Amino acid sequence: MHNTNLAVENHAHDLGQRFIQLFGGSPRIYQAPGRVNLIGEHTDYNDGFVMPAAIGFCTRVSIAPRHDRKLVIHSENYSEQVEFDLDRLPAARARHWSDYVIGVVQMLVRSGKNLGGANLLVDGNVPLGAGLSSSASIEVAVGYALLDLGDRALDQTELDRTEIERPKDDRTNIDRTKLALLCQQAENEFVGARCGIMDQFVASHGEHGKALLLDCRSLEYRLLPVPGDVALVICNTMVKHSMAKGEYNQRRAECEAGVRGLSKHLPNARALRDVTPEDLEAYGRELPDVVMRRCRHVIGENARVLQAAAALELGDLQAFGNLMRESHRSLRDDFEVSCSELDLMVELAEQAEGVYGTRMTGGGFGGCTIALVQVDCVEAFKRTVQEGYERSTGCKPEIYVCSAADGVGRLA
Ligand code: ADP
Ligand code: MG
Repeated sequence: MHNTNLAVENHAHDLGQRFIQLFGGSPRIYQAPGRVNLIGEHTDYNDGFVMPAAIGFCTRVSIAPRHDRKLVIHSENYSEQVEFDLDRLPAARARHWSDYVIGVVQMLVRSGKNLGGANLLVDGNVPLGAGLSSSASIEVAVGYALLDLGDRALDQTELDRTEIERPKDDRTNIDRTKLALLCQQAENEFVGARCGIMDQFVASHGEHGKALLLDCRSLEYRLLPVPGDVALVICNTMVKHSMAKGEYNQRRAECEAGVRGLSKHLPNARALRDVTPEDLEAYGRELPDVVMRRCRHVIGENARVLQAAAALELGDLQAFGNLMRESHRSLRDDFEVSCSELDLMVELAEQAEGVYGTRMTGGGFGGCTIALVQVDCVEAFKRTVQEGYERSTGCKPEIYVCSAADGVGRLA
């Protein structure tokens, strides 16, 4: 998605107008992106490596302080407005979209942050529930907005000014890693979703034109160049099979069983991250076949992520693409989290011109694939995949053409 500065300014203007219509006053506007994982699937909960990039789809939060202690939150996506009293925040989720906002507020309060009342307008174009992490994007946008607004809401002189003067510097002193951890905690503990740190981390730390190699154990990361003439094309199968959650929990248990079995020989192995392919070769035969194959995926995938990072640093997209293919095969055959729709989408993408590599992305059993496609081949790619997928399944896929984008920041 290539936004011109003018388009961004226009959108900021429209959001500002909408905010005034709803609440009056003039807001600051923040945005945080969705993400796609290029390689490194089911490695996060094994303390391993992932390689996400932030994408040009984002959630925008317009915010202005209020004179009282209310939080009034309007979601444009749900055409709905909810109100909370900061002194009587709900202690538990309501299974409502506002959980994602209140979860972040609760974690900020728990961390000692002194929040004042505010009006918030939330408006996102990350497809909801498609696996591009609209959830992390709303959390990180809200968290950043509240932190940047800070205790200033309590300052009457500032409150009474029509426009809050402050440089549009989005590299403020906000600690982006702490922000990501706080948002993950909100999703884990308040929303009640068992997610790793990847989504919130890349929504916080992403950079234009860069993918991120993230060590999920240490949270060390490295930015890697994604060439400008390569598009990140995300193909949505439009299916989500119901066994996804149960299978996910089972995979986690199988990985844990693998560590337990292998640690008889490798006392220092705390997670599959600590096991090398040679270790598995030596001791894997003692594991039940299913557990051995789950371990082989995770251990191989960690190695592939590191090789893929080296390939990007060398600008070797062929090598990168081959690692994506291997990743897909391993997820399909060893980890068994693919499905016929994902396999079909990958096969169709492989037939198109200008494709470096493609694989399923996300937890599996539906959701999206990612393909790295030469920019000038994108239109033909979309046609081939769209037509082929619709012909075989009767279902029209959505295709999102993205490039690596910036993490959270202030827009206006
Ligand atoms: P994903 O992260 O893959 O998009 P999730 O189920 O984790 O899917 O998160 C989606 C949920 O996040 C939505 O159902 C909604 O509750 C919340 N959400 C995301 N964006 C918005 C938004 N713009 N307005 C209100 N709620 C949102
Ligand atoms: Mg999510």
